Amino acid sequence: MAVNMPENVQDLVIIGGGPAGLTAGLYASRAGMKTVILEGKSTVSQITVTDSIENYPGIPEVSGFELHDRFRTQAVSFGAYASTDEARSVEKILLGEYEGWKITTEDTILYSLSVIIATGAKWRALGVPGEEQFLGRGVSYCATCDGPFYKKRKVAVVGGGDTAIQEAVFLTKFADKVTVIHRRDKLRAAKILQKRAFANDKIEFEWNSVVQEVEGQDFVTSLRLKNLKNLEQDRKISVDGVFVFIGLDPITDFIKGVVNLDIGGYIIADALMRTSEPGIFACGDCIAKPLRQVITACGDGATAAHEAQLYVDELKGQAY
Ligand SMILES: Cc1cc2nc3c(=O)[nH]c(=O)nc-3n(C[C@H](O)[C@H](O)[C@H](O)COP(=O)(O)OP(=O)(O)OC[C@H]3O[C@@H](n4cnc5c(N)ncnc54)[C@H](O)[C@@H]3O)c2cc1C
Repeated sequence: MAVNMPENVQDLVIIGGGPAGLTAGLYASRAGMKTVILEGKSTVSQITVTDSIENYPGIPEVSGFELHDRFRTQAVSFGAYASTDEARSVEKILLGEYEGWKITTEDTILYSLSVIIATGAKWRALGVPGEEQFLGRGVSYCATCDGPFYKKRKVAVVGGGDTAIQEAVFLTKFADKVTVIHRRDKLRAAKILQKRAFANDKIEFEWNSVVQEVEGQDFVTSLRLKNLKNLEQDRKISVDGVFVFIGLDPITDFIKGVVNLDIGGYIIADALMRTSEPGIFACGDCIAKPLRQVITACGDGATAAHEAQLYVDELKGQAY
C-alpha cells in the first residue's frame, strides 16, 4: 500500500527503552534525526530491576534504576520523543516513492523511514508445578523488587550465572539464609562474584540439583529438588521464597517473519547492527551475541543509530 509521504513520517522509530534503545535515541536525536522511542508497557528494562551496577565504566557504583533514568533524561534532552506505548507489529510500506515502515502500537500507528529494535529479553521461567500459582506469593524474578519482603527469612536462588550469584549476595542483606540451587557442580558466574558468594556465610549451595516443584499453601513453604547425579539425594527444602535467575528469552515474537532470527529467537544482526531487512536495525540483548550487558547494549545502540542515520540520509538524498 502506498501513502503520500505524510508530514508525520519519522526518520527513526526505536522500539525499546532500555540502555540500547535510549543510547540509540541519544545518538539519533543528537544527529538531528526525527526520533520516537517506544518504551513499552508490558515489560521493563532489565537494568531497572538491578540493584547495583559496578561495571559501567566511569561510574563505579550506581543503581540500575538511576542509570536508566540518566540515560532517558539525556536521550530526551536532544529532542527524542519518548512514549510508554508498546509496538505490536512492523510492516513494510511505501511512503510516497520510498520503502519505509508502518509500526502499529497499542495506541496508534507510526510511519518511519527506519526502525531500530531494542526490545531486550525477559526472564526464563522454571516451568515446574507451583511456579505460576505462587508468583508474587513467594516466587520472584526480581531480587531488587521483592528482596526486602524476606527480612530474616529463608530463600532460594535458582541459577549459577552472574545474575543469580550477584542477586544471591544481594539477598543476604535481608534473608538469614540463601540457598543457591544449581544444576551443575560449579558456577558460571564471574570469579569475583563467586568469591563473594563463597565467602558469605549466609549462602549455601545445592549442587547438581533442579527444582521439581514449588510447594506451599497461601505462600511458598518448600521446594522439591531433584539431584541430577544421585537420585537418592532428591529432597525437600523449606524456604519462604524462591528467586529464579536461569536465563533470558528475547522479546522478538512481534518481529518474527519480518527479520531473520536465530534458533533461540534472537535477531541476527551484523557488526553494523543491520538485520536481514534494509532499514531495520537491532541492538542490545535482543540480538544474537556473546555478552549481554549494559555497556554492550549501549555500544550496539550507538552503532545502530549511526547506521540508521546513514541509511536515512541516503534515502533522503535519493528522495529530495
Ligand atoms: C538482575 C539483573 C542484573 C544485571 N546486572 C547487570 C550488571 O551488573 N551490569 C551490566 O552491565 N548488566 C547487568 N544486567 C544486564 C543488563 O541489564 C542488560 O544487558 C541490559 O539492560 C540490556 O539492555 P537492552 O536495552 O538491550 O534491554 P532492556 O534493558 O531489557 O530493555 C528493553 C526495553 O524494551 C522494552 N520493550 C520490550 N518489548 C517492547 C515492545 N513491544 N514495544 C516497546 N518497547 C518494548 C522494554 O519495556 C524495555 O524498556 C543485569 C540484568 C539483570 C536482569
